[in-house]
Amino acid sequence: MNDKSAVLTATDEEIATALKDANTMSLMMAIVHLTGDLSVIRGDIKPDFEAVLDPQMGITEAAQKEIAEKALAALIDYRDRGGTLPPPPSDADVLEMVRFLTGREDLSEDYVPFLMQELSLHGEDAYYHAPVAPDAPEKKADFHTVIIGAGMSGILAAIKLKEEGLPYIVIEKNETVGGTWYENDYPGCRVDSPNHNYSYSFAQKDWPQHFSDRKVLWDYFEECADKFGVRGSIRFNTEVQHSRYDEARKIWQVTVKNADGSEELLEANAVISAVGQLSRPKMPDIKGLGSFNGPAFHSAEWDHSVDLKGKRVGVIGTGASVFQFVPHVAQEAEDIRIFQRTPPWVFPTPEYHDYIEPGKHWLLNNYPFYEKWFRFSMFWTTAEGLLDGVRIDPSWNDLSLATSEMNLFMREMFTAYIRETVGDDEELLAKIIPQYPLGGKRSLRDDGTWLRTLTEPHVHIETDPIVEIVPEGIRTKSGELHEFDVLIYGTGFNADKFLWPMDFYGEEGLSLREHWDGDPRAYLGIAMPKFPNLFVMYGPNTNIVVNGSIIFFSECEMRYILGCLKLLVEGDEKAMAPRESVHDAYNVKIDEGNRQMAWGVPGVDSWYKNDKGRVTQNWPGTLLEYWTLTKAPDPADYEFN
Ligand code: NAP
Repeated sequence: MNDKSAVLTATDEEIATALKDANTMSLMMAIVHLTGDLSVIRGDIKPDFEAVLDPQMGITEAAQKEIAEKALAALIDYRDRGGTLPPPPSDADVLEMVRFLTGREDLSEDYVPFLMQELSLHGEDAYYHAPVAPDAPEKKADFHTVIIGAGMSGILAAIKLKEEGLPYIVIEKNETVGGTWYENDYPGCRVDSPNHNYSYSFAQKDWPQHFSDRKVLWDYFEECADKFGVRGSIRFNTEVQHSRYDEARKIWQVTVKNADGSEELLEANAVISAVGQLSRPKMPDIKGLGSFNGPAFHSAEWDHSVDLKGKRVGVIGTGASVFQFVPHVAQEAEDIRIFQRTPPWVFPTPEYHDYIEPGKHWLLNNYPFYEKWFRFSMFWTTAEGLLDGVRIDPSWNDLSLATSEMNLFMREMFTAYIRETVGDDEELLAKIIPQYPLGGKRSLRDDGTWLRTLTEPHVHIETDPIVEIVPEGIRTKSGELHEFDVLIYGTGFNADKFLWPMDFYGEEGLSLREHWDGDPRAYLGIAMPKFPNLFVMYGPNTNIVVNGSIIFFSECEMRYILGCLKLLVEGDEKAMAPRESVHDAYNVKIDEGNRQMAWGVPGVDSWYKNDKGRVTQNWPGTLLEYWTLTKAPDPADYEFN
């Protein structure tokens, strides 16, 4: 962004007005770029890193004003110089800036190249990869890829293959693009990772809200499919049934079911699965399921024809979906009873439903480097910077409520927030204050909307376990029958059944489903031994609990996959699969890592763990580690043939 012409024509008053809405930390960084002078971050104005819930990080109003005045002077000077910048900050300067912004004096220098690229401060591509066979278009023309899914990852894969001039086709079961953002249209559905991070690094936009609603996200992916010209290569209303690897020909045979029900066989040199982890709704295993007399539906298949006005509504679950739709349903329904097994932690986020202020829009669009640093501060405060808070301290004895001193500090802060918001209803508080460590499950962002809804007289949290669904409603363990007009299942997705219901048959006809046996593993979450040229995006152990945006992972994965395709297209060997030893050693480390995180604590169940208790979904490390590991494939990790 950063529209120079808008700055060159802006009046002093316009700039001063915009600066009233500034995020001071991002502004301080931008001032360094405009002036070439680091004194603004070497003075007395410093963030308070304990003020984690304050977007201004404890910087006083007087100090905010002082920085805004400096920013005004710097921009006026820049404007009056005709928009010329001093020399860019050196690597050492960037490290100092990042250490100031993160409060981590010991922050590793390894972050500098990562940040220089992620911030794209000087036009770098954060996910740079060497071009695939730039001098051999004929080799590329012969190498075909099938991409499965046109959601966030699939569109990304298509954009990147198109950029490289590699032929591809995308198979999408829905009628249009967007995946989860197209499918989930329950009331209140919105992203809970800040949009400036939850967006492709190469397609930033002027987001209306910090956390936009699903329609804005869906539109974004529709826009990207058009802007980058990939829509024409997507076959909609077409579903992959299964794929079989022909070892002799080194070809994947992908069987698809067309919209008219006919089957078709497609052939490809490589397959990229981009079907996500959260696309197939999960119905609970409860006796009598299906016997309810009234309308009943899953949150991901919302039945908008059902009028909830004046109805008695039963809701099963208290996960990320329920927490978003219940406040909306509460405005319509006469009575809601929410069946809770485990309460979620809520992460106080005052701006969760807010629109971005006009001044901040102006700064994001026009003030040089402001948007880059704002994106970085989101990246840090909502991602990398939170990871330590959910790590298990090996010397911490009792893991039942917290995993470390910092985890306990956050627990106390979040508990205080719940108490402040809910008031003194001790019966309700006893139900909704989680009795497991923060980070054990996904925590939900709340500006108080969810918690206040729970205090309404017609909204009830039911903790008596469900034993049966009956025609009239739900019967609980105490024997009580709760009668409803409508039932809504907020019971999540079949996340542990990666790639389901498709199956892939690799070398010697091996079925991936049988091979995984409910315990999926992959090398870097991307590739599996015995399944040559099959690449997975958002595969096993690539989900994140607190740190960041899944788009970050997809961009890393796609960069790595392009590195693999480069080896295949340019080399003589046309098939590659990771060595068993490399894959196994990697997974030992992943399991060790997950055992050291709050979501690995035994006894806390979540969709992150499979029924063997192993964490199959999550990445235990930093974003820097994943970014570094996925820069490019090391041929030594693979067997080629
Ligand atoms: P979820 O987090 O898996 O929640 C499912 C809920 O259903 C849990 O509260 C679970 O209880 C409950 N449940 C399952 N079976 C049950 C049973 N038999 N009886 C009673 N309760 C039962 O699913 P989700 O809310 O759809 O979210 C899944 C993931 O999707 C999220 O973690 C997030 O990654 C993503 N998501 C993101 C957003 C967003 O804001 N961007 C919104 C929605 C979803 P237990 O906790 O006790 O198992």
